[in-house]
Amino acid sequence: MSTFSKIFLFRGAGGRHYSAAAQTQLREILGTQLAGIKEAGTFKAERIITSSQSTQITVQGSEKRILNFCANNYLGLANNPEIVEYSRTLLEKYGAGLSSVRFICGTQDIHKQLEQKIAQFHGREDTILYASCFDANAGIFEAILTPEDAVFSDELNHASIIDGIRLCKAKKQRYKHRDLADLERQLRESDGRLKLIATDGVFSMDGNIAPLARIVELAKKYDALVFVDECHATGFFGATGRGTEEYDNVMGEVDIINSTLGKALGGASGGYTTGPTELISFLRQKSRPYLFSNTLPPAVVAVGLKVMDMLLASSELTQRVQSNTQRFRTAMTKAGFTIAGENHPICPVMLGDARLASTFADEMLTRGIYVIGFSYPVVPQGKARIRVQISAAHTEAEIDQAIGAFIEVGRSLKVIQ
Ligand code: PLP
Repeated sequence: MSTFSKIFLFRGAGGRHYSAAAQTQLREILGTQLAGIKEAGTFKAERIITSSQSTQITVQGSEKRILNFCANNYLGLANNPEIVEYSRTLLEKYGAGLSSVRFICGTQDIHKQLEQKIAQFHGREDTILYASCFDANAGIFEAILTPEDAVFSDELNHASIIDGIRLCKAKKQRYKHRDLADLERQLRESDGRLKLIATDGVFSMDGNIAPLARIVELAKKYDALVFVDECHATGFFGATGRGTEEYDNVMGEVDIINSTLGKALGGASGGYTTGPTELISFLRQKSRPYLFSNTLPPAVVAVGLKVMDMLLASSELTQRVQSNTQRFRTAMTKAGFTIAGENHPICPVMLGDARLASTFADEMLTRGIYVIGFSYPVVPQGKARIRVQISAAHTEAEIDQAIGAFIEVGRSLKVIQ
């Protein structure tokens, strides 16, 4: 690197130069920590995919197609030709992007259309789009809650909910995972003005479900609001894909839904909050990730629009992912594996030991099946697993191939008999 580029790269805010010594120190501190992460076996290496996201993918270093069982591509829409074509059309019509936040000059007719379609899909009054659901979660609690208010959060909520709550000034209370007695005790003792219960609809590491109907019941009893993150439910969970509230027969009873366009709904990116008109209008005024970040690009908005049209017209894909899930869970359980979670396309194959989970995943890959082992600290110590994710796009033959490989590896590693 030339002296010029070194100076150019390490010029800090306000034109100050970082000294070479400070940079050496930074490299040393981070290098030591990285070595520690590697030694602990928790370093996350990234496999490089050289095809589109799909049930069959290619990865760098191999010509062979492998069967993918670890994407959040629940409806199999990530490379749907109709969606890609519509995205191309809106890219040509509306350009690459808006170079602006929404309130300055970043709102096009298609952004409003998508917000209305999402509201229609969920049966809500209005919707606000964000660049991601992480942003939607980061932007909601701080905007609406004051020190007089109280927020009650499931201890295993997603990191973005935890971070969003950290930013707000309300009284912060954590209740034990899906523990209604603990939640009720805390609600009873609270003197918060607004009381907001916040939960994932589906917890992604375990594939288990928030007891939403009973949470709604408690909310009514203690005059609280309910917020649900539906990233692992929208579009495919519940009879017509309306999510956890449909699954638990409390359609329309949740006050605030946050979800993502980056998983089942086409897999591009984007997030949203949907709920009462006043809430959405208020977020447009106050929510910082919305106010201070660029608008969603037209090609991405197009993905959301097309997916919403498809889901409003038919729940066929939703039914397909459900029947594929049933097929996998039933056969794996029969083979002797323990599958955690409930009826959800996230199917954690429980193995316990971290090294076993990682060896198991490597063995699966040699058989052409791409799955990932999860171990501590992502999941509790001693609860290592392989998290399989089922898609509507998997064929029955592909699912059976994965089951066959699981049985073969499971026997050779003595996980099953
Ligand atoms: N909430 C949950 C439960 C998630 O699983 C994720 C993604 O991993 C997010 C929020 C963030 O969504 P996005 O990718 O749109 O930022």
